Amino acid sequence: MKAGPQLPLAPKEERELLLARIKALEAENAALKGHNEYLEIVIGIDALTGARSRHVFERELEHVIKMVRGEIEEHRAGAGPLKVASLIFVDLDHFKRINDAYGHPAGDEVLRKVCALMIDSVREHEADLVARVGGEELVILMPGANEEIAARKAEKLRERIAQLPFEKYPGLAVTASIGVASSEHAKDAAALYANADKALYQAKENGRDQVVPFSSL
Ligand code: GH3
Ligand code: MG
Ligand code: MG
Repeated sequence: MKAGPQLPLAPKEERELLLARIKALEAENAALKGHNEYLEIVIGIDALTGARSRHVFERELEHVIKMVRGEIEEHRAGAGPLKVASLIFVDLDHFKRINDAYGHPAGDEVLRKVCALMIDSVREHEADLVARVGGEELVILMPGANEEIAARKAEKLRERIAQLPFEKYPGLAVTASIGVASSEHAKDAAALYANADKALYQAKENGRDQVVPFSSL
């Protein structure tokens, strides 16, 4: 950015300069908004967190379930046919309170940090997909994992979320409730999603900050 003028300006010139600056800021904003929409729609990445978008998740879930049911002849490279897939469904606890107490930017920071942790937790399994499906609702789709494996991963994730530090916001702590379900108990993609959601609901009912597998309901 250029340095501001050194001499005091006549009011009209000052006004024009300010108007030009506002126009420039508006253009910058529009470009940024366009960039975020591009990320979300074309690349399928949620602009706030870097997780995949809901749209990509829904498409992948359908695809993976078709593979499990043998409706698609596609095999994963060198891994043989896909027999099972699981879904980890995370909902942050009392997230509204976090926004109310610390402000919306703090809530955004929580979302970014939790997603970063989730993305980190799947880095050794390229097929696993982390997505943001709602405001503070996050999922991991795990092709090849049964409910027990997914529940173990979910429990580790729950512990790591509860330990997340927020240096910028003293006193801020976050927990998550997590539902886990597998394709073994679901006839299609919608049923798998609904089962994980039911398990998550039970985790909330039980007092939050816990993992509930659908088969335990
Ligand atoms: P529960 O433990 O039952 O899940 O309670 P909750 O407060 O987390 O649930 P609720 O669905 O009532 O509130 C979700 C809140 O998430 C409300 C909304 O303002 C906030 N939220 C949604 N999207 C965003 C976002 O992108 N950024 C921030 N900071 N907050 C968001
Ligand atoms: Mg929610
Ligand atoms: Mg919540």
